[in-house]
Amino acid sequence: MVSEGDGGLRRSDQLVVFDCDGVLVDSERLNVGIWTSAMRDLGLTFGPQDAIHHFLGRAYADNRHTAAALTGREVPPEWESHWRAEFRRSHDRLEAIPGIAEALDDIVDAGHPVCVASGSIGPAIVRKLEVTGLDRFFGGRYYSAEEVERGKPAPDVFLHAAADLGFAPSRCVVVEDSDPGVAAARAAGMPVVGYRSDLTPAGGLADADVVIDDMRALPAALASLG
Ligand SMILES: [Mg+2]
Repeated sequence: MVSEGDGGLRRSDQLVVFDCDGVLVDSERLNVGIWTSAMRDLGLTFGPQDAIHHFLGRAYADNRHTAAALTGREVPPEWESHWRAEFRRSHDRLEAIPGIAEALDDIVDAGHPVCVASGSIGPAIVRKLEVTGLDRFFGGRYYSAEEVERGKPAPDVFLHAAADLGFAPSRCVVVEDSDPGVAAARAAGMPVVGYRSDLTPAGGLADADVVIDDMRALPAALASLG
């Protein structure tokens, strides 16, 4: 876990596991623009749809390898430090996904313990949730793909979160916005609610149990899976 504190966790209920980027915070919109510019900076012809296809919903470490594979060489250190700084700067203008704070209020009020399991690096998760004020819901229960061997679509970060909080995978529900994330939840044996936005590719989230396009519908979607 990125930071400590179980915040009054109720262990007898269903654990709701939230992806961070694109589910809690509207960062993927910014990430698409940054990845597009970063790959063009490496000399590639690259558009927003390419950024969505190659990078969204995946761990930063995996995206770094993808960038190298797409260009056919290791990424230059100065390129990486420049664009990592751009990602960090973008966190200052982050906003919460519309409706997510209201949904979290309802979910926590209903007695569900909640946590975050993300491909983002630990300090970035903390920063994104602080900037948007959503940190108040989670009691520091943040899990990063940095803490496990494999990023999404592997199930590692979801299984790590469930094990650390003492929940069997069958007592967890995942909320995800990307196909690698949905695949990771499936591989972990956890039902998954898909959140569709204007960044979701056509045909995306086909493997989610339920798909919503408004976070205000999340409490009802979770109840339908309970
Ligand atoms: Mg996501």
